[in-house]
Amino acid sequence: MNYKLIFFIILMSFFIFPSVGYAQTAKIRTVVIDAGHGGKDPGAVGKKAKEKDITLGVAKKTGDLIKKKYPDVKVVYTRSSDVFVELMERARIANRNNADVFISIHCNSVANAPKTCGAETFIMGEHRNSANLNVAKRENASILYESDAQDNYDGFDPNSTEAYIAFSFIQSEFKQHSLELAELVQNELVGKAKRADRGVQQAGFLVLYKTAMPSILVELGFISNPTEEQYMMSKEGQDYLASAIYRAFCTYKTNYEKESVELQHEVVKTHETQTQPAVDKNHGVVYKVQFATRNRKLDNPQSVYKDLQNVDYYEHNGMFKYTAGCFATKAEANNYMKEVVSKGYDGAFVVKFENGIRK
Ligand SMILES: [Zn+2]
Repeated sequence: MNYKLIFFIILMSFFIFPSVGYAQTAKIRTVVIDAGHGGKDPGAVGKKAKEKDITLGVAKKTGDLIKKKYPDVKVVYTRSSDVFVELMERARIANRNNADVFISIHCNSVANAPKTCGAETFIMGEHRNSANLNVAKRENASILYESDAQDNYDGFDPNSTEAYIAFSFIQSEFKQHSLELAELVQNELVGKAKRADRGVQQAGFLVLYKTAMPSILVELGFISNPTEEQYMMSKEGQDYLASAIYRAFCTYKTNYEKESVELQHEVVKTHETQTQPAVDKNHGVVYKVQFATRNRKLDNPQSVYKDLQNVDYYEHNGMFKYTAGCFATKAEANNYMKEVVSKGYDGAFVVKFENGIRK
């Protein structure tokens, strides 16, 4: 065959199959399952059971089900025995393992109300009522067992209401996916495990404070309610609860991976129409809008944040900071920041670069 013809065929194949070899899709590869409390921290205590034992039982059963169905998914436990693990360390375990999902498992409790019952699933956010704040306060009180809490949590006082105002910054970028997972878990707890529905809620949990991935905290039921305590202690009850979380995880994984394939296709289509900034980002002073921090580099950030323009990143202290837009003036960047915030990136702010370097 003529070499020119072979060259021509190879050349043409790049035009015909432009995305072959480049299409990378996001997959759920690692899940961290966090059994609340442990060791010297019993969590809430019922008439017969301790929260730390129920959470460990349900966590292990959930992990076993996931491993069986998806041998290629890495299941990491923050603890697999009756030991004490600091709240911050639980988040660090998730971040170190580059987890795609973090599921913290707990039991609820309320004083002098033995009839109060039901399951609820939390994401990190601002509490809308005192009941949610009280759940967060009770769970965060675990740090009172920690010797270096003052350093780890910047002096955070779990009992002070003021301390709970707006500290969900890192989680805000994962809010949508956290919410999706929380809703799936809550639906399964109500549908499959027949729990009374207390809904999906928001509050400030220290264990979710520094996790850099979609994260939820599940309150399986009330240990202060003798019927629910009995259910959560029983093998059958734990099987149902674990199965509910597992089924929600499966649906989340399927949806997430399907969504990422669809995003990839859209990116291939929209690449050519992507507007380029009129300013040169590597020369002189430019302003960008920083909207996210991640512990790893995304293969194609524009495909993940497709609702933002000119997505870029820079590295700082081993973390990857993602920016959108590129403007010659701070006023333009401020305007665009408002648009970014309105799209749900709550903590977005303007950053300055000089000759490509963050100032
Ligand atoms: Zn708890």
